[in-house]
This record gives sequence, C-alpha cells and structure tokens, in this order.
Amino acid sequence: MRDILVAGNWKMNGSSAANAELVAGIVAGVPEGDGFSLLVCPPFPYLASVAAGVAGSAVRLGAQNVSEHEAGAYTGEVAAGMLRDVGCEYVIVGHSERRALYGESSGRVAEKFAAAQAAGLLPILCVGETLAEREAGTTERVIDEQLDAVLGLVGIAALASAVIAYEPVWAIGTGKTASPEQAQDVHRHIRERLARADAEVAAGIQILYGGSMKGENAAGLLAMQDIDGGLIGGASLKAKDFLAIAEAASRANKTG
Ligand code: PEP
Repeated sequence: MRDILVAGNWKMNGSSAANAELVAGIVAGVPEGDGFSLLVCPPFPYLASVAAGVAGSAVRLGAQNVSEHEAGAYTGEVAAGMLRDVGCEYVIVGHSERRALYGESSGRVAEKFAAAQAAGLLPILCVGETLAEREAGTTERVIDEQLDAVLGLVGIAALASAVIAYEPVWAIGTGKTASPEQAQDVHRHIRERLARADAEVAAGIQILYGGSMKGENAAGLLAMQDIDGGLIGGASLKAKDFLAIAEAASRANKTG
C-alpha cells in the first residue's frame, strides 16, 4: 500500500533565523512510527541551510518551482540539476499560484515535470479547479486537462516516479477545506483516470490533498481511501501545526 507524505510548502516566507527554529522544531518532533514521511519546501535561497538542518533526520527536502531548461541564459531561473545538487529530492510543479500569477500553462508545467525527472527529482504535480470551475461543473474536465498535458509529454510510466497533489484553488489559503468526501471524489477520479492507462502506476502513486489542511481536519482527510497525504501551506510554517498533521499521518497507518 501507499505511504503517506506530509509536505510543507513554505511559499515566500521565512528568514535564516526563523527557518532554523522551524526546522529544529520539526526535526525534534517527528512522530514515531513508519508508513509516512515528512517533506519541507523552503524558498530557493534557504535550500542549502535547510538541507543542513534536516540532514540525518527523517525530514526530506524539496523546492517550490524549477526551470524547464537544463542550463543557460535564463536569468532568474533555477535548474533541476541545481536543486539535486543542494540536496532536494522533490520539487513542486504547477502550483496554482504559479499557474495563476505567473502564467504557467499546463504545457509548461509538463516541461517542468519532465526536467525535474530528468535530473532525478520527484515532481509533485499540482492540479485543481477554481471556485468558478467547480460551480460550473467542470472540475473533472479541468483536472483531466492538467493531467493529460503531463501524460502526453512524459507518458504514464513516468508517473511511477512522481506525486500528484489535488489542490482545489478555492481552498488554498482561504480556511475553506474541501470535505473529506469532496476531496475523495476528485482523488478517486484522478486514480481511475490514471488506471485507464496503467493500473499498477495508478495504484502506487501518492495523491496528496492541499487546501487549508491542518491538525484539526487532517485525520478525516487522511482516512479517505485515495488521500495519501497533504501539501500544506499556512500550517507548515509553525512546527507545532505541521507536527499535528504529521501526528495524524502517523496514526492513519495506511500501510497496515
Ligand atoms: C498550498 O499552497 O499548497 C496550500 C495548500 O496552502 P494552504 O495550506 O495555506 O491552504
């Protein structure tokens, strides 16, 4: 069965001092047990220092974005090989803030996904609908388009080395969480769509939920059959809040 992944997306928050305190708190409080893992995704300038802070612990390191290019004249961009070089194992691609604020199309997200894998990173592919799209009844169509762009470029087999995060845009940073049933419906849809291409890949892939997940609602979400963890924004910025979700993950024990 699938392990649970609890991933913190720090977004554009933090400082050297604040990160040191946050990382020390997380590392000191990792719950006992197995069947789950923890990941932190700090901003680029702090990757190396956070890598040092989590070294030797069970906490993994990821980045929040990556260039689709390997190297060269791309001012301000960061290549996947550089992320590997400073200790990242994961990278988030296609977060809704990147899609909405920086115009990242599904095609470009797919190229980032491919670049990440080519460098040995595990991409965390974010998909999700806006409130208007949900109200228009197009949630599944929107998600299919986001998934299909990646499948069309890299093929289903590549999804065996990736994570998907379902993040309804209306639930991100708003305090509005999808109900466990609402989230499960979409997670099931994603897994069934992948299963049409390859049942084994679909059964093995971790599908995280993201959108105002916190200690109080994590257990209910993680209890759902197709929810294999969380991508967490706000609640990843305080060790106590992040560890409350980690505790829920350690109790969910989906591997048993
Ligand atoms: C996110 O940005 O991926 C996210 C889920 O944020 P929040 O937990 O704050 O809703």
